[in-house]
Amino acid sequence: MNPDNIRFVLVNTTHPGNIGGVARAMKNMGLRRLYLVAPRDFPNEQAVWRAASATDLLEAAVVVPSLEEAIGDCQFVVGTSARARRIPWPLMDARHCAQRIAEASAREQVAVLFGREDRGLTNDELKVCNLHLNIPTAADYSSLNLAMAVQIVAYELRMLQSVAERPACEVDEWDAPFASRENMERFYTHLEEALVDIEFLDPAAPRQLMSRLRRLYSRVRLDDMELNILRGILTETQKWVRRGRESGR
Ligand code: SAH
Repeated sequence: MNPDNIRFVLVNTTHPGNIGGVARAMKNMGLRRLYLVAPRDFPNEQAVWRAASATDLLEAAVVVPSLEEAIGDCQFVVGTSARARRIPWPLMDARHCAQRIAEASAREQVAVLFGREDRGLTNDELKVCNLHLNIPTAADYSSLNLAMAVQIVAYELRMLQSVAERPACEVDEWDAPFASRENMERFYTHLEEALVDIEFLDPAAPRQLMSRLRRLYSRVRLDDMELNILRGILTETQKWVRRGRESGR
C-alpha cells in the first residue's frame, strides 16, 4: 500500500466545516491528498477551525472545477454511497474495499469519491467508478456525516497499513520455541492414551474427539514449555488412575 497514491475527492461539498473535518480525519490516519471539486464555500474559517492541526492538508488541497479534472490520471476509482442505486454495481463494504484500494495503490493512482451532504454522488458520477463502497449501517438510517464516512474509510486503510508494518506475532520474541510437529504428535498420542485411561474416550467408538482436540490445540499454537506442562498433567492423571484402580482391586 502506498498512501501517497491515494486521494480523497470531495464532490461539491456544501459545508466548509465538513471539509475541515475531512482534513483532520485523513491526517490522523496518515493520508494527505485532498481534492475538492467545486466546493461551495472554500477557503473558509470554519474549515480551518474544524481541521485543528490538519490545516496543512487544507492548504495543499487541490481545488478543481470538475470531477474529470480530479480523477483524470487515476487508474482505480471508488465511489462511496449510502444506498444501493438503480443500476447494480460491484459493491463492497468499507473493510473489503479498503483492501482493494490498498492493493491498487501499490502501483496505481487511486481516487475515493465522497458526495454532497444532501444527495451524495449522482448516478453519472457513480458510473465512472470501478467499484462502489458502502459503510454498513442500521437499516433505517444509512447516511453518515461526510467527515465521519471519510474517517471510517481512512481508518480501514490505516489498519491495513499498520497490520503490514506490525510483526505477525504480538510479541517479538517468544520465551520458548514453538512445539515441533513431532512433539505435537507425541502429545496427541499421550493425550489419547490418557483419555482412554480415564474412560473419557472409548477406543471402540472414538467419534471425532481426537480430531476436534487437534483442531483446538492447533488454533493456539503451543510452545515447548506449555506442551511439557500439559504432558506433565497427563502423566500425573494416569498415575492417579492407576493407583485408584490398584487400590480398588
Ligand atoms: N443522502 C445521501 C448521503 C449523503 S452523505 C445519499 O443518500 O447518498 C455524504 C457522503 O458521505 C456520501 O455521498 C458518501 O460519500 C458518504 N457516506 C455517507 N454515508 C455513507 C455510507 N453508509 N456508506 C458509504 N458512504 C457514505
